[in-house]
Amino acid sequence: MNAVRPLVAVYPGSFDPITRGHEDIARRCLRIADEVIVAVAHTATQKKSALFDVHERVSMIDTVFADEPRIRCASFEGLLVDYCRDAGAHLVIRGLRAVSDFEYEFQMAQMNQELWSELETVFLTPDVNYSFLSASLVREVARLGGDVSAFVSPSVLNKLDVAFGNRG
Ligand code: ADP
Repeated sequence: MNAVRPLVAVYPGSFDPITRGHEDIARRCLRIADEVIVAVAHTATQKKSALFDVHERVSMIDTVFADEPRIRCASFEGLLVDYCRDAGAHLVIRGLRAVSDFEYEFQMAQMNQELWSELETVFLTPDVNYSFLSASLVREVARLGGDVSAFVSPSVLNKLDVAFGNRG
């Protein structure tokens, strides 16, 4: 226990783009951590299918949390455990929407614990309104011209409109 050092949590993901569900989880995390780093992972596989590049994703996240000094955004390559160790974070936050998320999340949490025993993974559940929401669904609906304004912040909506040419 260290009463002086702030408790830093890392919330990793692809955030392509950040949705209201992600936002809800990051803000909830402030109830248990002093600082939250929203960490955008760039891996070779994600690069191929990504709608927004990592720089754009980080910039959208910075805009969404411009009002909250305790949440910042960064990107990382390589192992999450290495990133957390470097950042001085012993806490990883993940969101659980439904049972379908559980198996993968459980495996990953256990693997990360094997890789670095000082890391704890904490799962948070979102507001019920966001429990069905995923970035891939948002991309798909926006791509087809559907209204996703309830699921992303206005700044992200603008980026989606530009990306898919949805602006009248
Ligand atoms: P997505 O699955 O939407 O592409 P990410 O891969 O960026 O999202 O997910 C990062 C983390 O955020 C994961 O733990 C994921 O389960 C969680 N997450 C994503 N969307 C939501 C949501 N609507 N509610 C709660 N957690 C979520």
